[in-house]
Amino acid sequence: MATMPLSQPMDTTHPASPFRAWFACAAGCAGEIPLNQISYYCPKCGSLLDVHHDTTALRTRSPEEWKRLFDDRYCRTTYPYGSGVWGKKEMVCPAVDNANVVSMYEGSSNLFWAERLGKQVGLNELWVKQCGNSHTGSFKDLGMTVLVSMVKQMISEGTRVPAVACASTGDTSAALAAYCAAAGIPAIVILPRNKVSTAQLIQPMANGALTLSLDTDFDGCMRVVRELCTKENIYLANSMNSLRIEGQKTISIEIVQQFDWAVPDVVVVPGGNLGNISAIGRGFLLMQELGIITKLPRLVCAQAQRANPLYRSFLTNYQEFHPIKAKKTLASAIQIGDPVSIHRAVKVLTAFESIVEQANEEELADAAALADQTGLFNCPHTGVALAVLAKLVHRGWVRPHERVVVISTANGLKFTDFKRRYHEGKLRGLQSRHANRPVELPAEYTKARDAIFAALEKQQ
Ligand SMILES: *Cc1c(COP(=O)(O)O)cnc(C)c1O
Ligand SMILES: [Zn+2]
Repeated sequence: MATMPLSQPMDTTHPASPFRAWFACAAGCAGEIPLNQISYYCPKCGSLLDVHHDTTALRTRSPEEWKRLFDDRYCRTTYPYGSGVWGKKEMVCPAVDNANVVSMYEGSSNLFWAERLGKQVGLNELWVKQCGNSHTGSFKDLGMTVLVSMVKQMISEGTRVPAVACASTGDTSAALAAYCAAAGIPAIVILPRNKVSTAQLIQPMANGALTLSLDTDFDGCMRVVRELCTKENIYLANSMNSLRIEGQKTISIEIVQQFDWAVPDVVVVPGGNLGNISAIGRGFLLMQELGIITKLPRLVCAQAQRANPLYRSFLTNYQEFHPIKAKKTLASAIQIGDPVSIHRAVKVLTAFESIVEQANEEELADAAALADQTGLFNCPHTGVALAVLAKLVHRGWVRPHERVVVISTANGLKFTDFKRRYHEGKLRGLQSRHANRPVELPAEYTKARDAIFAALEKQQ
C-alpha cells in the first residue's frame, strides 16, 4: 500500500478541489457556462460574459491563510505557482490542470519607488508598477497566460481549436504569439497597418504567428476578428474574452501584496479598450469581499485626449456613451474609439471613488520624458497616466501625503521610435521640453573635454 506524505502540497486541480469558476452574463441573466466552452456572449441577451468565482468556497480560507499561501508561493520554483498569476490560481482560474498551464513566470513585476519623480510632482510616495517588465514587455502577458492555458486544456479534452486570433494595438498580439508559440498552438494576429511600433510588429512575426496587417484602425481590426471568431471555430483572444481579465486582476492583488497587504490610496491606470481598468477594479473588489483588504483605493482611468470616449462619457456622469473615431495618438496602444469593455469599466468605476482624466500629446510626451530623467524608461501610455496624475495633484484631487501607484503598462523599449523623435525634436506640434540630444564631435580629447565642461556648467 502506498503511503501518503504527511503534508501534501495543495493541489487545486484535483477533482475534489473546492474552488470553482464559470462564465456568467455581465448583465445579470441567470445561468452558468463552463470556462472550457467556447462562448463570449450571453445566449439570452447578448451581453459579454464575466468570470464568476464561487466566493463561498474561497471564504472557507481565512484572509490570513490566503496571504500566507500567496506569500509562500511568490517568485518560488514550484510550477506554476511561482508565476505572479498562477500563484493566485484559486482566484484566477482554478479549472485548468497544472499540466496545461502555459506560463512564462509572468507577473511579480517590480513596484518601483519613484522617489525623485514623486518629489517633482509633489508626492511623498509615488510608486510605478512596472507591468512592462514581463516576457513580451507588457501587462498583456498576465491575461494571455490564462487564456492560452485554457485553450490548451480544451484541446487536451478533445475540443477542436484550429487557431487562436486577436485584433491588437500591438501588445496583445505580441503576448498571444509568444504564449501560443510556447504551447505549439497556431496564432493569428490582426494589426492596423502603420499603427503599431516596429518592435510590436516584429514580435508576432518572430514568434511565428500568422500576421495580418489591415488598412484600418484597431476598431476596424476588432470588427474583422469578431466576425471571424463568430463564424469560424477560431478562438478569440481579445479581452471580450473575460479569461484575460481574470489574469490581469492579479495586478491589484500583487500591488497589495507588495505593500505587505496594505492598500494604496490612489491607483492610476491608462485605458483604451478598458479591460485592464475593469480587471484591476475587480481584483480589489474580490479581495474586499474575501476580507483580504478592508478599504478600496480611489481609481483613476487616464485616457489620451485624441482617443477619449470614456472621458466624454464620464463628463455626462456615464449617462451617455458614444463610440468615437479615435484620432492618431503617440499612445498608440490606447488609440481606441469603441472600447469593448465599456460597460465593465463603468460598472467598476462606479463601485469605487473614481475619476477619468485625459492628457494631450504634448503632456503625455513630456511626462514620459520627465519621468525617464529619474531613471524610468516609459512607454507613451505610462506617459498618459503620469501626465494625468500631475494634473490631479495640481488640482488637489490627489494630496501630497497620499500613497499613489501608477500602472506602467508596457516596456519603453518597444517605443524607441517615439523616444528618438522626441529627443530629436521631430514630433510635430510638440516642444520636446525635456529633449536630451547627443553631442556629435570629432574624436579629439580637447573637443570632448570642452563639450563636457560646457554642459556641466550649464546644468548648474
Ligand atoms: C493594452 C494596453 C493598454 C490599454 O489597456 P486596455 O485594457 O485596452 O484598456 C494600455 N497600455 C498598453 C501599453 C497596452 O498594451
Ligand atoms: Zn444576459
